[in-house]
Amino acid sequence: MDMQLRDRVVLVTGGASGIGRACTEVLAEESATVLIVDRNPEGSTVASQLRKAGHWVEFVQADLTDESDVRMVAHTARDLFGRLDSVIACAGISGPVGQPAAEVSVEDWDRVMAVNVRGNFLVAKHSIPLLSRSEAPSVVFLGSDSALVGFEGMTPYCTSKGAVLMLTKSLTVDYPQIRFNCLCPGIVDTPMSRADLGQDEGFAGAGLPVMQPGQVARHAVFLASPVSAPINGTTLVADFGYTARSALPTLGFS
Ligand code: NAD
Repeated sequence: MDMQLRDRVVLVTGGASGIGRACTEVLAEESATVLIVDRNPEGSTVASQLRKAGHWVEFVQADLTDESDVRMVAHTARDLFGRLDSVIACAGISGPVGQPAAEVSVEDWDRVMAVNVRGNFLVAKHSIPLLSRSEAPSVVFLGSDSALVGFEGMTPYCTSKGAVLMLTKSLTVDYPQIRFNCLCPGIVDTPMSRADLGQDEGFAGAGLPVMQPGQVARHAVFLASPVSAPINGTTLVADFGYTARSALPTLGFS
């Protein structure tokens, strides 16, 4: 399938690692031009490896919780490419895990909200002027199944992802000329999930339903591409059907 991404410019936040890195690789395969944004300088290595393979991928280091950094990112996209067609917003942190809410410090709470909520808001705020000039603009936020169901010991993260889902819907209403969608995967094998779940060597044998970053990247790239028009303001849940199930046990209908 032609994803119609040739010559489109896509901003990928969190592109130095995990799902964001996989999105960058899939976009490059699809001949899109990519601007990686990450606070981790490793994004520069990702970009230069893809450039060596003949793709146009640039990197800008920024802390997305800082409005002046995010403004600078939008200016970089404008100055380098003169346009912006899509954003795939992957940057995020899990914050404290395995901690009941009453034990969470205000500092940890604010840190999670700053990256996962303020960061995504700022990326949208400063991308909208450029996106508005594109013929088929699309923004994809990485939510999580944690936006829909609670996980014990992860109240800040779950709350922040619920906010990302509502940010998606609110922006859809405010800016009808731009598409906004929220992708909500379950566990994806990345440095974040390995650290959170104590699976340093990966998930083989862990007995968990786990996706690979490349799989999730294809879902995100589909939503970012013109192929998915007119899918707008939606939540795409990739959780193997777990949230579809009733809490009731199997009933013995006869
Ligand atoms: P990851 O840790 O591998 O990558 C996240 C990237 O975001 C890192 O490169 C990090 O440097 C960057 N980042 C964090 N804070 C930043 C900031 N303030 N400014 C700039 N960059 C920043 O994580 P991942 O697993 O690839 O997660 C990507 C997204 O997907 C996150 O939003 C995460 O919540 C979500 N998600 C992950 C999973 C999973 O199981 N891995 C499941 C559902 C949703």
